[in-house]
Formats: sequence, C-alpha cells, structure tokens
Amino acid sequence: MSFEENIRKVVPYTPGEQPQRKVIKLNTNECPYAPSPKVFNALEKFDASFLRKYPDPACTGLVNAIADYYGRDPEEVFVGVGSDDVLSMCFLTFFAGKKPVIFPNITYSFYEVWADVYRIPYKTIPLKENFDLDENDYFIENGGVVIANPNAPTGVAEPLEKIEKIVKENQDSIVIVDEAYIDFGGETALPLIDKYENIIITRTMSKSRAMAGMRIGYAFGPKKLIKYLNDVKFSVNSYTMNMPALIAGEEAVLDKEYFEEIRDKVVATRERSKTELKRLGFSFRDSMTNFIFAKHEKASAKMIFEKLKENDIYVRYFNKPVINEYLRISIGTDEEMDELFKVLEKILAEI
Ligand SMILES: *Cc1c(COP(=O)(O)O)cnc(C)c1O
Repeated sequence: MSFEENIRKVVPYTPGEQPQRKVIKLNTNECPYAPSPKVFNALEKFDASFLRKYPDPACTGLVNAIADYYGRDPEEVFVGVGSDDVLSMCFLTFFAGKKPVIFPNITYSFYEVWADVYRIPYKTIPLKENFDLDENDYFIENGGVVIANPNAPTGVAEPLEKIEKIVKENQDSIVIVDEAYIDFGGETALPLIDKYENIIITRTMSKSRAMAGMRIGYAFGPKKLIKYLNDVKFSVNSYTMNMPALIAGEEAVLDKEYFEEIRDKVVATRERSKTELKRLGFSFRDSMTNFIFAKHEKASAKMIFEKLKENDIYVRYFNKPVINEYLRISIGTDEEMDELFKVLEKILAEI
C-alpha cells in the first residue's frame, strides 16, 4: 500500500491569470474602479495592535450592515471569504445526500470542482444552444440544484419566474442561486426567501463593489438554512474573516451612493462596448453582467486571445467543448475598452 491511496485527489479550479506587471486586465471580471473612499479611510484608521486578538467569529458588524442594507434579518445572512468560500460551505452543508446535484453544463466551473473535492455526485444539464436555460430540465430527482443568475460565462440573465419554478418544483432539495453579477442587471431571487424554505442566494463584493482583493462574499437564506451553514463553518474554521476585511466590508456595503456611481459607469461602458463589438464582427447574447461573452464571425477565439495577450490585453479564453469559440471580455474603463477596440481592429484587419 502506498500513501497515495489515502490522499484526496482533485483536479483544481484554474483561476484567470493575475499578471504582476501592468496590463489591460479584462480577464477576471474585476471592477476597473477603486473601492469606496470610505474603505480607504477605514483601513487607514485601522489600529494594527488589534490584530493580536481573534476577530469576531460571528462577523456581527458586517452581517448587520448587509442585513440593514438589504432590509433583511441578520439571522438570514451568512458571510465568508469571497463567495467562493460561501459557495464551498454551501456545497459542504446542503449537498450531503446521495442523489446527484444538478447544474448547467456551461456555468461557473468551480461548481464541479467543489462537487469533486467533497465527493458529491453531480450531473450537468446542457443549456439550449443559445445558452438559455430550460427550467423543465430541472424537474428531475436530484440532491440539490445550483444556478448562476445571471450566468457566467454566458452573461445571460434568466427571468425570476424561471428561477421560482425551479425552487418550487424542488422543495426536497436546496436550490443555490449564485447572484455574483446581479447588481449589473437581471432580477434578484431575494424575495423568494420569504416564500420558500429551500433557497440560498449567494453574492460577492468582488465584482460590483470593487473588493476582489479583500475576499468578501455573503449569502441570504431562511434562518434555518443560515443556521446550518454557520454550524458547518464553526466546524471547519470559526475565524474565516479577518479584521480588516470585516471593517472594510461594512464600509463598502453601506456606501450606496459610490456603489451606484461605479456600477452605473460599468453598465454604461458595457452598453457602448456591445455596439463596438458588433461593429467589429462579434456576436453575443445580451449581457446583464460586467463582461461580454462573444464569438467572432471569422477569426478564431484562441487566435484573438493570443494576439491580444501579445499586446498586453488579457481576456479570458476557455479551451473547452461548446465554448471554445468564445472570449469572455470583462468591462474595463472607457479608455481600456477603447484600446481593446483599437487593437482588435488591427488584429482583425490582418486575417
Ligand atoms: C466571481 C464569481 C464568484 C466568486 O467570487 P468571489 O471573488 O469568490 O466572491 C462566484 N460565482 C460566480 C459566478 C463568479 O463569477
């Protein structure tokens, strides 16, 4: 026997590249603007001598701020180290059955990695050819359901009606709705937590609140489910969130005015980018997110991806069946997008 047999082996998730030099970075859906000035202020004032103590394990200040902002009860809120941590805790907590968890074949690729690492059986369900989701495909026996809405990397937002049907038809499983991009468009499923016992909604401060580097995610759900999540969290690591993140997160969530200002800028640049990309020969489903998932009429996605990189412009390319002719382009500042269009024009003129 070898120790190899005792090792938990998994094919890890591959995050987008984080080049350490200055490039035009449109590959991981970060916000191109700085976080709220209130975050800067709070971090400047933070007294590092507090770091000798453990942080508040219940994350009370941050939980209360999120509950306040969204008009929910603090017992309906869970927080974690990015929504990746929140989602991972959800998989561990809610998918302990034997039946397969179901999610679309084209969605956030971390879902199958968590299923693998926790040894959760799962089954992927093909989206329609146009990347729409057919809710009827989810009315089957399962051990849980995960839907990103709007979806990534497609950018497609499904109407609340469809999401509600999936929740309603699956009352014997937990349905996770990953709303990482909901601030940029689409209808939130948040009101459904008053109507159903089996729904969890996850969110992140990484995209719309410009806090990817701080790692803050959160979830809403019925009190009972939030309690189950906290029981598992306190069985893995009681102190998931560090003090600066707790303080900065509170400031970021409460600064509504700044949040709306940067979100509106990203949405305006996205709409302008749709026109430019169409002009350059790209087609895509209407995006409700802070990225556009686009395919070119003539040029291969891989070629464009590589040429852009040579020009220090990073976008995301997935070398996977069904989507290997698409590029996922995050929305940057207007200046960054103009540079992208200029370089694309040059690349496309050479084919
Ligand atoms: C970015 C993203 C996340 C994770 O975000 P965190 O930075 O971990 O909060 C989760 N789900 C989807 C669909 C995402 O695109």
